[in-house]
Amino acid sequence: MTRISIIGAGPGGLTCARILQRHGITVTVYERDPGRDARNQGGSLDLHADDGQIALREAGLLDAFHAVARPEGQEMRQLDINGEIRTHHIPAAGELFKPEIDRGTLRDLLLDSLTPGTVRWGHALTATDGRTLRFENGSTVETDLVIGADGAHSRVRPAVSPAVPQYTGISFLEARFDDVDNRHPEIAGLVGQGSAHAADGDRALFIQRNSGGHIRVYIIRRAAADWIAAAGLTPGDTTGIRAHLLDEFAGWNPRLRQLITDNDGRYADRPIYALPVPHTWAHHPTVTLLGDAAHLMPPLGVGVNMAMLDASDLALALAGGDTVGTAVQAYERIMLPRSADLATMLDGRAEDLLTTDDHANAS
Ligand SMILES: Cc1cc2nc3c(=O)[nH]c(=O)nc-3n(C[C@H](O)[C@H](O)[C@H](O)COP(=O)(O)OP(=O)(O)OC[C@H]3O[C@@H](n4cnc5c(N)ncnc54)[C@H](O)[C@@H]3O)c2cc1C
Repeated sequence: MTRISIIGAGPGGLTCARILQRHGITVTVYERDPGRDARNQGGSLDLHADDGQIALREAGLLDAFHAVARPEGQEMRQLDINGEIRTHHIPAAGELFKPEIDRGTLRDLLLDSLTPGTVRWGHALTATDGRTLRFENGSTVETDLVIGADGAHSRVRPAVSPAVPQYTGISFLEARFDDVDNRHPEIAGLVGQGSAHAADGDRALFIQRNSGGHIRVYIIRRAAADWIAAAGLTPGDTTGIRAHLLDEFAGWNPRLRQLITDNDGRYADRPIYALPVPHTWAHHPTVTLLGDAAHLMPPLGVGVNMAMLDASDLALALAGGDTVGTAVQAYERIMLPRSADLATMLDGRAEDLLTTDDHANAS
């Protein structure tokens, strides 16, 4: 039996495992997190009818997705820096092109669909040559195919490519708001049921409603990757970081400055990296990549959709191919040019998030 190993239980890795299992193929997923509830999975994602939802259909999970997704989350407001609405998309009844789902809900949906025991938690890969997997916990595993679905800073990628992600110059700082309808009604009113974006050319706020009464705000600016240390601050110094940001957003209306001052808990620093474009590699018979490991791009609403489409294409190629090698080649013939085209289009476009144009959209 061919031993297939997927590294990373993100949306890409889990979608691939699910579709392989639907085709009767045995697979093991190795994940760095110690367990499924080890960390909050983060904000909301929109899954598109022409990519992410195609993968969900192949996974047999499209109806289950629609049962928990939030079509009302397709609402999008473009605000000025006074908090006034400039443009407003309200989804029509029955509009299902890109419903929102929390990352945690999507992960649960995929995890619950797998054969019990598929995911080996607490297995952080340190290196592989395409035959042996070496983990931080000291264990090693022999395999016939390694699928690197381990995200931006992939440890599988060096087996096929020397490329490393480069900092885009754009920094995201994430702020969280809980129980918003009771505790932060004004912020809840600003965002409505979906997302809202405000920018002044140099900085921006992207506000995103999640399920369960939570809102996430990304405070987006041009900054050095280590701007917190460079300002003499530490990531846990909420008061110091807040004062620094308030200075930068001095010209903004207090309605929007609340998004910097009233958050619950600490800020989370999320500097934005992207792989050099185009990122490609010579075919390796026992190693391939999907999702961010293959083509990390600025967060402009395609990352998770591409990861899931890659996963679907690879799993279907493995289900239909003669050998692992020919299946991987068939997958890469589709995925590499597709992702190169998209990455070329989005190259340097993290800057769009700062523009006042109505097309800028972080989700
Ligand atoms: C701030 C921000 C907001 C974003 N918003 C959106 C959005 O709204 N819409 C959208 O489409 N995209 C968005 N993206 C991009 C999106 O998150 C990614 O493109 C998507 O998650 C990629 O999926 P993946 O499965 O390839 O990798 P990931 O989701 O990164 O999953 C990788 C998995 O591998 C595990 N892992 C990592 N290293 C190892 C290791 N060494 N060994 C074992 N396991 C490992 C991780 O723990 C994780 O579970 C956003 C990105 C950022 C930074």
